[in-house]
Amino acid sequence: MDFDSLRRLDIVDSHIHLPFPSLGADLELALNEMHIGTVNLVSTPDPKEISHNPAVIAYKAAHPQTAYISGGLDHFSVQAHPAEMPQAFADQVRAMHAAGFDGLKLLESKPIARKMINIPLDGPIYAPMWAAVEEMGMPVVWHVADPEEFWDRDRCPQWVLDSGWFYGDGSYPLKEELNSEVENVLTRHPHLKVILAHFFFLSADLNRAAAFLDAHPNACFDLTPGSEMYFNFSANLDAAHAFFTRYQDRIIFGTDIGASVVGKPGTPLDRAETLGRTFVVRACLENAGKIEIPDGVKHWRRPNQEIQGLALPDAILNKIYHDNFTHLYGETPKPLNLPKAVEMIAFQASVLDAMAGKPVESTAHQVYTQLIS
Ligand SMILES: [Zn+2]
Repeated sequence: MDFDSLRRLDIVDSHIHLPFPSLGADLELALNEMHIGTVNLVSTPDPKEISHNPAVIAYKAAHPQTAYISGGLDHFSVQAHPAEMPQAFADQVRAMHAAGFDGLKLLESKPIARKMINIPLDGPIYAPMWAAVEEMGMPVVWHVADPEEFWDRDRCPQWVLDSGWFYGDGSYPLKEELNSEVENVLTRHPHLKVILAHFFFLSADLNRAAAFLDAHPNACFDLTPGSEMYFNFSANLDAAHAFFTRYQDRIIFGTDIGASVVGKPGTPLDRAETLGRTFVVRACLENAGKIEIPDGVKHWRRPNQEIQGLALPDAILNKIYHDNFTHLYGETPKPLNLPKAVEMIAFQASVLDAMAGKPVESTAHQVYTQLIS
């Protein structure tokens, strides 16, 4: 695994998780090693922290030129007042925008989250939020469903069973139901700028992926693993190459660095895993022939299956690595509005205190103290 063997291009990683501010130093080191200059940090709902918004704000405060941030919704402060939810979610995205968030991140359509939160994405509760996001031109990184094999016990990988992501027991929404919620939202809001994370989990069906992109001209896909995506491309390498050529303006680089430390405070970023996943994605885009899967992501290896490189030209790589992202998010990250960001974090800390019935040492509290000093 040699990053110096890869091409020297301007790279934005559009999909990185930073649940705790203490991971910032690890992330910086890894980015330097991988020659990645700019990041989009995506914040998700988190039962212990409400969201990672404070952590990503802290990182952006320290890296104003190179960090875009996409905020997560607060589902906790609104729970006691269901009738006010529609307005509350719209207010939240407006407050994020005003505080300097560049985009919104939604994990709410991942089956496990969709089952737990139980709010249809195309229903009346989120309707004012979608209208606000569309009106503000705020891009959305949206995780919808998961690979189809996660619903099928015979094809479901062991590590998925072990993570509790098997959805075939009848208690989870079906993949098609989740996808149809997306169709409804995009049909109602044709100007929404959405990046469907993980290739919208359509890598096994490129005809369908093409039909979707044709029907929704403002939608893009990101290349964040699911490693199944890279095996699916390799199984139809010519078709995948043709797809990347035809849709070169609609595909965005991302890696999911940091996803494995979500919910694990005090755990450092796993350097081998971070570099390994990034190397596979980049090598698959840039190189030809068989791609070695590094030890850091050895759980991706499959018996009798290989990942093959697409060997895309620089002109296409520049779009996937940079231009398609900045086309949606702007040439440079938005400046933080520090007073508004601090106010938002203080509120989050107070909600966590109220939930615990006493003051708690939350990330929100920690970042608040850091930012006002
Ligand atoms: Zn992710």
